[in-house]
Amino acid sequence: MKLVVLPGDGIGPEITAATLAVLDAAAARHSLTLDLAEHDVGHASLAKHGTTVHPDLLDTVRRADGFILGPTATFDFKDEAKGEINPSKFFRKSLDLFANIRPARTYKGLKAPVGDFDLIVVRENTEGFYADRNLEQGGSEMLVTPDVVISLRRITRLCCERIAHAACALAVRRRKHLTVVHKANVLRIADGMFLDICRAAAAQYPGLAVDEILVDAMMAHVVRDPARFDVIVTTNMFGDILSDLTAELSGSLGLGGSLNAGLDHAMAQAAHGSAPDIAGRDIANPTSLILSTAQLLEWHGARKQQPHFVDAARAIDAAVAAVIAEGHATRDVGGSLGTAAFGQLVAERMRR
Ligand code: ATP
Repeated sequence: MKLVVLPGDGIGPEITAATLAVLDAAAARHSLTLDLAEHDVGHASLAKHGTTVHPDLLDTVRRADGFILGPTATFDFKDEAKGEINPSKFFRKSLDLFANIRPARTYKGLKAPVGDFDLIVVRENTEGFYADRNLEQGGSEMLVTPDVVISLRRITRLCCERIAHAACALAVRRRKHLTVVHKANVLRIADGMFLDICRAAAAQYPGLAVDEILVDAMMAHVVRDPARFDVIVTTNMFGDILSDLTAELSGSLGLGGSLNAGLDHAMAQAAHGSAPDIAGRDIANPTSLILSTAQLLEWHGARKQQPHFVDAARAIDAAVAAVIAEGHATRDVGGSLGTAAFGQLVAERMRR
């Protein structure tokens, strides 16, 4: 598997190093042939090449079987004319990575403030309220007067259909329960279409139970009884917000995996940001990027029919759970381990 690694900004290099230690152990244990190439992205690339994403990088990741993007300092990158491209947006849009798959589950050994659960948020990843990427050219936020702003949201039939089918396909492989999260009582046309398309897609999957919940009510339901959810499908921004909540309810933002997948390409990316407040201190939780990378191995294994990649992915998930169950944890979840030490423990567990 040709894998490109882009460590990114803030805590990115630290959690990427911990992830690579786990990947190395997974490769040894499951006989994976990995061809890794590391490249700069974000501030490191801006300093070296005058742009956060080097012009050759898109071709490099296109030629690979998958890539790992560490968190980048998106808030710092405001002016594309100065080379300040948001790498996450750039790759999602350029490679049409339309499905953002964000699992969240509780762990034995960690507090579960709202009870145990195991769910996946399936978030549309290419349009919606994201004004910096939902038009072919230009941005969809307009300053009408110094005091008036209009921001446009784009919802298309194709994007609704493909995310609905991605979620249904996932749900039938799990507990066969799909929840559609929307705001069709206010966004009647756009979310009305999203809802209709999700219903029509779900009808094609025999045995799939479907329910529909307004996004505001969902915040209460997921806190009150997260165990009732299996696969949740929603539009871009609702999914972004909801998946941060589900990750935090599972113990920490640092625990949630995130795969950005299209038909031909996939990018593992931590669900959280670059956390500049804790960068360089070896205290960040690397679990999110480790689990995202496991998702990437699973995606690759399924696509290329190479079951040992799928086995390696499951083994990484199990090793993370086992290490946490043994009482080892980083500070964000009440432990005292550093980023590197946590990664080493997961890697050691993989080698057993
Ligand atoms: P960015 O501007 O890149 O989005 P941010 O700090 O605004 O960064 P996040 O990185 O998502 O947003 O962080 C939100 C909070 O969660 C911060 O207090 C951060 O320290 C904490 N956090 C995020 N990721 C982790 C992690 N992997 N381990 C521990 N704490 C984390």
